[in-house]
Amino acid sequence: MSFDSLGLSAVLLRAVSEQGYSDPTPVQAQAIPAILQGDDVMAAAQTGTGKTAGFTLPMLERLTQSQREGGRRRVRALILTPTRELAAQVRDSVRTYGSKLPLKTAVIFGGVGMNPQIQTLRRGVDIVVATPGRLLDHLRQGTVDLSGVEMLVLDEADRMLDMGFIRDIRKVIAEVPKQRQTLMFSATFSKEIRQLAQGMLQNPTQVEV
Ligand code: AMP
Repeated sequence: MSFDSLGLSAVLLRAVSEQGYSDPTPVQAQAIPAILQGDDVMAAAQTGTGKTAGFTLPMLERLTQSQREGGRRRVRALILTPTRELAAQVRDSVRTYGSKLPLKTAVIFGGVGMNPQIQTLRRGVDIVVATPGRLLDHLRQGTVDLSGVEMLVLDEADRMLDMGFIRDIRKVIAEVPKQRQTLMFSATFSKEIRQLAQGMLQNPTQVEV
């Protein structure tokens, strides 16, 4: 299996080879075609499996394939992560793989000032990587608009549940259009995770590696 056969365009294939990746990992080989096709995906994948590229590459592909509406940049993809560290890492991956694309990414997490985040959001971004609590603060203050979100990613969903983010996640999801693509990545698929997935994903393609 090579990256060439997954359906990614040349600019992303170049980004992949610039990273020195020769072949997709198993989670990438399964998730990328399903995501490109527009499916919801529920993937059991631990850190180290290449899951971040597994959702970031097809997300970037889909965002560039379909044009944003009107002139104004709006949040079209939202990635929720349990921790600041992971949010920053995912933001870095999005920037690395998307460095040749005309997309802007913001990272939103707590423990730092709101104002720089508000400025960034006000200037317009296409992709937001966020921890749930701080994102909710922005929603309450009206400093982020999620009504244009087309793709929602829950990364390390099991850790978000363990950390008690379930209510925050549900509140965030209430602000995102129902008509969207949803991707859930989790190291394990416990009963709780499956319940969460049932309310959020539509007929998901299951990926297990
Ligand atoms: P992740 O599971 O997303 O945290 O990724 C783990 C590590 O695997 C990261 O350092 C990636 O740069 C690397 N990686 C992702 N995809 C590939 C690939 N197809 N081939 C080799 N390394 C990869």
